[in-house]
Amino acid sequence: ALAVSLRGVTKAYDNGVMALGPFDLAVRKGEFISLLGPSGCGKSTALRIIAGLSAPSSGTVRVARHEGSVQPGHVQPGHVQPGHGIGFVFQEPTLMPWTSVRENVRLPLRLARVPKADARARADEALASVGLADFADAYPRELSGGMKMRVSLARALVTDPEILLMDEPFAALDEITRFRLNNDLLALWRRLRKTVIFVTHSVFESVYLSQRVVVMTARPGRIQADIRIETVEP
Ligand code: ADP
Ligand code: ADP
Repeated sequence: ALAVSLRGVTKAYDNGVMALGPFDLAVRKGEFISLLGPSGCGKSTALRIIAGLSAPSSGTVRVARHEGSVQPGHVQPGHVQPGHGIGFVFQEPTLMPWTSVRENVRLPLRLARVPKADARARADEALASVGLADFADAYPRELSGGMKMRVSLARALVTDPEILLMDEPFAALDEITRFRLNNDLLALWRRLRKTVIFVTHSVFESVYLSQRVVVMTARPGRIQADIRIETVEP
């Protein structure tokens, strides 16, 4: 079954920048793919379109449980409900500084009106899954960059989404922290088998993490190569 399917998707921004496409991509449920390409080639644009945060200028976007079709020149706000069935991890952890780590992770469940006790338990479970069980009561400012990124990952996973979208999540971290996070993300994926679309401009990261590397051309991003990585499961 497909988790994500894009057909003939293009994106022209209001300033006339042709950012993407035509772009076709099909991602199976449970697959971990990387979108690899140079800066400015349209990787974030593609991810935002999949998330429903941005409407394509043309083409069809299908996301597990949602379907949206946008005609050229027409914008259908909310053609995919943002957050519904999708977890999104941005390059910056974007945590709320005034509240605890647990409350940060619980936020998507609050928005979904999950009862407090249940939400709290689920937030703590998500924090444990990223190795931060002991930091639920800490405040974001007390955490290192790598730990903030782990919180951001826990927040994306707390709603148990079908699809996890990650936009250069580790790019700002030092190399050792980045490598640790790569390993932990891989272990988490082997356990949870979410569909992951991981945007990066690191060849190493794409090959190390994913089962499939989709290489994009320079802007407007099209698919240059779609490479299956043979992995030996431990
Ligand atoms: P990448 O993630 O591969 O670095 P982006 O998808 O962020 O690329 O951007 C693709 C191109 O579109 C870039 O040239 C960028 O400057 C341009 N762009 C991105 N967002 C906007 C926007 N909101 N308005 C106008 N141009 C944009
Ligand atoms: P950064 O991500 O900023 O490079 P680290 O991830 O190495 O930093 O963590 C910085 C500090 O936080 C270190 O003292 C490390 O031992 C501690 N730390 C990081 N993750 C955990 C964790 N899961 N449990 C306990 N301590 C942690």
